[in-house]
Amino acid sequence: MTGHTERPLLFLDVDGPLLPFGEDPHRTPRGTTPDSRLARLTSELGNRLTALPCELVWATTWEEEANAEIAPRIGLPRLPVVKWPEPTDQHEREDRWFGLCWKTRALVNWAGGRPFAWVDDEITDADREWVAAHHSGRALLHHVESYQGLADEDFAALDRWLRAL
Ligand SMILES: [Mg+2]
Repeated sequence: MTGHTERPLLFLDVDGPLLPFGEDPHRTPRGTTPDSRLARLTSELGNRLTALPCELVWATTWEEEANAEIAPRIGLPRLPVVKWPEPTDQHEREDRWFGLCWKTRALVNWAGGRPFAWVDDEITDADREWVAAHHSGRALLHHVESYQGLADEDFAALDRWLRAL
């Protein structure tokens, strides 16, 4: 350890992990409407997130809207929000070449070496490799299926990893 006494961060995406979208390719269509998506936002979800030993941070295109629209529905307080910087041309080219998610570089910068977990439906092995090479702390990039959202096994995996730090 390098002397970090702060709790690890958990970067939280909204569309996919908290608000599933699209259809499970193995099931028949259910017909998801925006209302039924928001109905998934329960206090139980907030409680499960709060129970994780970490500091929650919104990492989503919702930005401040996540605090306005999502947090109150699930009983979370106002959380820090990652603001997405305009990428430089050079970084944009590199990231595209590497196949990075557009969020990855910004999240590594935001973490500043602090250990973090990241929950997102857009994570791939390219992101894991890049983070391993560019982030000095521990990191868990946890992919969630966009049609399923955060499930029991995801919470279990996050809890296990965060407690083992
Ligand atoms: Mg997403």
